[in-house]
Amino acid sequence: MHTLRKQSLGKLSESPKVLNYRKEAPVEYASNVFNSKQLQKFISENAFEQMQLCIEKGTQIGASLADQIASAMKAWAVSKGATHYTHWFQPLSGATAEKHESFFDLDFSGDQIEKFNGDQLVQQIPNASSFPSGGIRNTFEARGYTAWDPSSPAFLFENTLCIPTIFVSYTGEALDYKTPFLKSLQKLDEAATEICRFFDKNINKVNVTVGWEQEYFLIDRSLALTRPDLMLTGRTLLGHAPSKGQELNDHYFGSIPSRVGDFLSELEKECSLVGIPIKTKHNEVAPSQYEIAPVFEHANLAVDHNTLLMDLMNKVAYKYNFVVLFHEKPFDKINGSGKHTNWSLNTNYGINLLSPGKTPMSNLQFLSFFINTIAAILKYKKLINASMVSASNDLRIGVNEAPSSALSIFIGNHLLGVLNDLENVSKGKLSPEEKTDLKLNVIGKIPEILLDNTDRNRTAPIAFTGNKFEFRTVGSKSNCSKLITVLNAIVTEQLIDFKKAVDKLIDAKKMKKDDAIFNVLRETISTIKPEFSKQKKQKEQPRQEPAPKVLSSTVSSRSIKLFESLGILSERELMARYQVDLEAYISNIQIESRTLGDMAQNHIIPTAIRYQNVLIENIRGLKEIYGTSYTKFASEQLIILKRISGLLAAINEGVTQMINARKKANNVTDFNQKAVQYAETVKPFLSDIRYQCDKLELTVEDTLWPLAKYRELLFVR
Ligand code: ADP
Ligand code: MG
Repeated sequence: MHTLRKQSLGKLSESPKVLNYRKEAPVEYASNVFNSKQLQKFISENAFEQMQLCIEKGTQIGASLADQIASAMKAWAVSKGATHYTHWFQPLSGATAEKHESFFDLDFSGDQIEKFNGDQLVQQIPNASSFPSGGIRNTFEARGYTAWDPSSPAFLFENTLCIPTIFVSYTGEALDYKTPFLKSLQKLDEAATEICRFFDKNINKVNVTVGWEQEYFLIDRSLALTRPDLMLTGRTLLGHAPSKGQELNDHYFGSIPSRVGDFLSELEKECSLVGIPIKTKHNEVAPSQYEIAPVFEHANLAVDHNTLLMDLMNKVAYKYNFVVLFHEKPFDKINGSGKHTNWSLNTNYGINLLSPGKTPMSNLQFLSFFINTIAAILKYKKLINASMVSASNDLRIGVNEAPSSALSIFIGNHLLGVLNDLENVSKGKLSPEEKTDLKLNVIGKIPEILLDNTDRNRTAPIAFTGNKFEFRTVGSKSNCSKLITVLNAIVTEQLIDFKKAVDKLIDAKKMKKDDAIFNVLRETISTIKPEFSKQKKQKEQPRQEPAPKVLSSTVSSRSIKLFESLGILSERELMARYQVDLEAYISNIQIESRTLGDMAQNHIIPTAIRYQNVLIENIRGLKEIYGTSYTKFASEQLIILKRISGLLAAINEGVTQMINARKKANNVTDFNQKAVQYAETVKPFLSDIRYQCDKLELTVEDTLWPLAKYRELLFVR
């Protein structure tokens, strides 16, 4: 057998099969987090209160307070063995970034001291000029700044104190996901609180809550190492489907294999230490696919925890000789991975605004948020799609049980009925009888727990699942704050408009508050109803438009107006983000194309030729024995020989043409056009060449084949 593949399969017998991890005592939850409980132990009561106030109000933390917190943080971290600290941030590259600095310093007399003060806590200049910035940073002023985000607590990882930060340019523009995300949370808080005050004057804060569900594949590391495609692109660019795939659904919710179980136990322990509240884990539909999900948290923390989790998973997987595939479509014809993102709103009293309540008034509040959220989503479908699209997610959307790209919202029959009833309410002021009827028979009858069985249609891209909206199109690899920033912004705009419309009716028509709310909701429903009817008619959804086209919505005049008016992102920042996404799209296809070209020419073609030599040797032998009548005995061999030659020619020709297409596309200077050209002229070669290579895989002798096959990658654990 081919050496690398053979060695890898051999190694499997040596891989750790430890089962004793579970027996260890559980760790103390969040003991590596410098949360408010820890802070309180280290600073004065007065300073602690000041800090809490700053976090709540989002105001700046003064220099002397920052100094106190820094010294508390350092004392805590050093007491737990930390030697370094880092500002931890989320640049637009999609990964997390960190630059470790030692606490160690020298004082003026040359003696060793440990130094970490307010300045180092609050700001750093990582000079990280190589992160994507979409042209915002010119090379002469490439400096980027990281600035402390006190709303997400610092944590300890290995020997390093990690301080969550935002990342901005010298000129103050956002270079990361977190900066606009935090702004969007604040804007939504303001707008939603105003609406809550229609119902309860005591409410003074609304938090966004988020719970993600992370899907991933876990593959044996040694086997993955035989595959340049997996190592370089995160997915298989070739590989014939195994005789058995996911048809039997025998992996779904099945018992977790023991090496995977050990990996998960250790992962859970690591998560617990840094305060990621993991709640569920189970096998997914595809072989070797799993999901892990936490208890929901405040959005900022939830996103930080998701990005941190992905780092932790890579590190723990390494120990168990696994690789984690976060790619949205690692295997052709097998289910891909998503990151379902659940979104809701919660008041400072812990009331979920998207959960029906016990009284008609609380249900009117619920309906106000429910209906306005739907209206916002339907109005800005394109922008939402743009926040989730990517070259890798493109491969998943619309196939093998994944949601379609045509955004529709599933809300269940009960709520659909409520919308119908509300739409039929008469215009203007309501008579007392009408109002009583509405309150008792329509909104009073919304059950507190909405479990609509028809929601087992898991492929609806967006679903209202009783107390939250679930977005299922988000890619497994992506930073979900991208979607939530858009969602927060569009809901904010919608709520501001809603409030204006209600106030106007109250002022101009002397309507009562609830009359005005009913009226505006009725109007809103009549704008969204046509969408629901359309949704019902659409059966099979078409495949998504090419990603570059979808991405252009980021910089549509509507999008610019939305983000600028709310002060979340400027036109320049949006343009930069658009460019970063296009560049990522281009690079993605470029790298895949190079990798496939290399694999075809350096792995597949030579292997096929070796097998041809085996056949030739055999035919030559037959000829020696049988003389001129040898063809009678070698007829099948000759057919296979010819078939291989045909496939070799097609592959070689395909690779040459693909390289030419790439060269042409690389000459295009406009980013959008270049991305479109990559999508239209380079991308198709990936599947064409693959098709021929996969045929060869079926033809060539198994022991010669250099790459781990699907059946090995997916079924060996
Ligand atoms: P399912 O697979 O049916 O969607 P899961 O239990 O896998 O159910 O996932 C439910 C997700 O919803 C979890 O990530 C959880 O944190 C999240 N969630 C639950 N309630 C809320 C809420 N109020 N706000 C945000 N997310 C929530
Ligand atoms: Mg889900």
